[in-house]
Amino acid sequence: MLDYSEAPEVFNPKFELFEQRLSKSRYIAVLTGAGVSTMSGIPDFRGTGGIYTSKYEHMDVEKILNIDFFNTHPEIFYKWAADVWFKLENYKPNIVHETVARMGRLGVIHEVFTQNIDLLHQAAGFKEIYEVHGSPMHNYCTSCHKHYSYEQIAPIASQGKVPYCSCHGVIKPDIVFYGEMLNPHTLQKAEEIFGRRCDMCMVLGSSLNVSPANQFPYMAVQQGSTLVIVNAQETPLDDYATFRFNDLNQTCQALNKYLDKKEK
Ligand SMILES: [Zn+2]
Repeated sequence: MLDYSEAPEVFNPKFELFEQRLSKSRYIAVLTGAGVSTMSGIPDFRGTGGIYTSKYEHMDVEKILNIDFFNTHPEIFYKWAADVWFKLENYKPNIVHETVARMGRLGVIHEVFTQNIDLLHQAAGFKEIYEVHGSPMHNYCTSCHKHYSYEQIAPIASQGKVPYCSCHGVIKPDIVFYGEMLNPHTLQKAEEIFGRRCDMCMVLGSSLNVSPANQFPYMAVQQGSTLVIVNAQETPLDDYATFRFNDLNQTCQALNKYLDKKEK
């Protein structure tokens, strides 16, 4: 795991101020991104240098993940996706997933939105999550719209084969491809939570480069919410952040000590 931790004399006083603000906040919304997944060994799907921007058999991965391309060449998508998307049992939740789940149980945070599609927040025990880019839990027939679970699809897709419906239609994971709209219900919920309700917004492991999720923290700031960003790389919203930490591991360790005190 890469270490971006800050020196204790820099980190500790900053965290202490953050802790004070945290204990006074009434409604905390969290957004998690690829940096959380990479700590579990999952490749960054969209970031610069991530596998979305790399090549697969001389094709841009972005092209493979385009909905029009999927509709004509599902076999290429499923060959590419076999190793990561359909072998999720190979990956385990990390300290960030555990800390988010614990904060949820203790009522410290209220809503969690994720840009990740790896089901690891759920694996850590946090179920009520908004998956901005969809979820491999759900899969639909492109002809008759019949639903298939991850467990039904994974044995076929993890071998790089196209899963077909009983009607012979191609089954597509309910993940947002390029050229597809985000789930309007999720977007509406984000507008309500970030744009009106929260008084603290915590960004964990997102470089805030992918729209529209990168708009959520901005909406929060616009309505007067405190912004906290924990990310190894710079983000376009750093100047708006009241608290800015580099290292997810260091920050989550400190958060757990805060939660220990709270639980006593
Ligand atoms: Zn069908």
